[in-house]
Parts: sequence; C-alpha cells; structure tokens
Amino acid sequence: MTATAVGTPKVRARGVRKSYGNLEVLKGIDLTVEQGEVLCLIGPSGSGKSTFLRCVNHLEAIDAGRLWVGDTTVGYEQRGTKLYELTDKEICRQRTEVGMVFQHFNLFPHMTVLDNLMEAPLRVLRHPKREVRERALELLEQVGLAEKAMSYPRSLSGGQQQRVAIARALCMQPGLMLFDEPTSALDPELVGDVLAVMRNLAHTGMTMIVVTHEIGFARDVADRVAFFDGGQIVEVGPAAQVITDPQHPRTKEFLAAVR
Ligand code: ADP
Ligand code: MG
Repeated sequence: MTATAVGTPKVRARGVRKSYGNLEVLKGIDLTVEQGEVLCLIGPSGSGKSTFLRCVNHLEAIDAGRLWVGDTTVGYEQRGTKLYELTDKEICRQRTEVGMVFQHFNLFPHMTVLDNLMEAPLRVLRHPKREVRERALELLEQVGLAEKAMSYPRSLSGGQQQRVAIARALCMQPGLMLFDEPTSALDPELVGDVLAVMRNLAHTGMTMIVVTHEIGFARDVADRVAFFDGGQIVEVGPAAQVITDPQHPRTKEFLAAVR
C-alpha cells in the first residue's frame, strides 16, 4: 500500500452524471484516485460501478460534471453544454494508458498466450518486437504462467486466462488499471491465484480501481473503499474502516449480506 502518494491525482471525478434514457445511473460522483492508490468499489448490482469504470476509460461519455484521467487530458461536459470534448485521437491515446480487465477475459482465441500479450503493443504502440517479446515473457513470469507462453487460451483454466488478460493489459504499460469483477466468473478454487496477482501488482505501486465482491481483498489490499448505491457514493474511506466499521446503514446492510 502506498500512503505516500503525492502529486497529480490519476483520476478525478466531480459531479459525474450519466443516464441511459430516463434512467439516471450515476447521480453525481465525486472521487479522487491518487497515483499509486488502490481503490475498491463495492456495492449492489446495478449501482453504477461498471458504468463509472466505463466512463473513466471513455467507453461512455458523461452527461454532466467533470472527469480528469491522467495528468494531461481533461475531458468533461457540463449540463449538456460541452465545455471540452476529447477528440477520437485523444480518446485512443488515453485508452492506451488505461488497462482494463473484465469479468470475461476475451482473449484472442486464435493466438497463443504470448501473441495475445504482444498484439496491442506491436500494433498500437508500435514498439519494437524484441522489446515487446521480452516484456511479455517477463509479465507471464510475473503472473506465474511463463510455461504457457506457447499455449492457446482454450487449453487454460479460467483463472489462468484471467491472469493472461491481466498480463496482456500490463503489456501496454498502462499508468492506471481498472478491474471490473475480475474473479466473479471463476470457479471458487481459481479465485485466489488471480487475487494474488492483483495483490502483487498493487505492491508494485500500480494505480488501481477494482470493482469486486471479494471483501477480504478490499480490506487487505485497497487503500480506500467506496461503497456505491443507487448511482451515488454513499460512503468512502480507508479500507479497514469502511469494511470493519461502516458508518452508513446501507453499507452495513450490504456488508452483512455479502459476508
Ligand atoms: P453495476 O456495475 O454496479 O452492477 P452498472 O453500471 O452495470 O451497475 O449498471 C447500472 C444501471 O445502468 C443498471 O440499472 C443497468 O441496467 C443500467 N445500464 C448499464 N448499462 C446500460 C446500457 N448500456 N443501456 C441501458 N442501461 C444500462
Ligand atoms: Mg458491474
């Protein structure tokens, strides 16, 4: 854990709102994530956690408020009046700096594990092949799958595939990693290895936003935990405090139910 984070926040949300038709899914999110911080988002299904991550990664445009991601780019709209909108090119560039890992790992089935890792750095970043290969092999080592470099995704367990997906995201050398319930689709006995990889990553100082129902992970690894409910952050604070001594009745109720 990195309590010493200083400087420009990685992510800053101020009054972020998002609706789908008449359904307001984010009702004014205020949140700051410092460089090197691990923030876990918890909360009931449908509370807007995934939508928030998708906004951070510019997979969704926000309707109101302001959202800063990284230290250079500012993208926001306010109350329907566009103050500044990212160009497609800026969005692409910023996405290369943000790694995202989903519940379903979506590896390229026709490529080896190694090629899955190398694809984007070669094609998008245009880094030299030798360098990318070296980095990919190091990352596979880091996630405990060095011996699977030449295997195809279908021959791996779900947990192994998810570790490959994490390594693939890291191969782009992102400054921020977003995880959306990365262990929810896994058999229980495979969850631990994936969480271990994420814990190690946190210890390297990576800035991470993790949506998870793994309360133990949130308590042990996160610096802070934010509890989402009904499109709002109901409670946010140091992980141990929010998990072991929640203040808001909704947080208490939720934690009692998931334990
Ligand atoms: P969570 O990740 O906390 O479960 P989501 O952000 O996925 O919540 O969803 C919040 C709400 O927004 C839900 O009611 C969901 O049905 C709705 N929603 C999410 N994505 C879309 C979409 N693309 N179109 C319409 N409604 C959506
Ligand atoms: Mg979700």
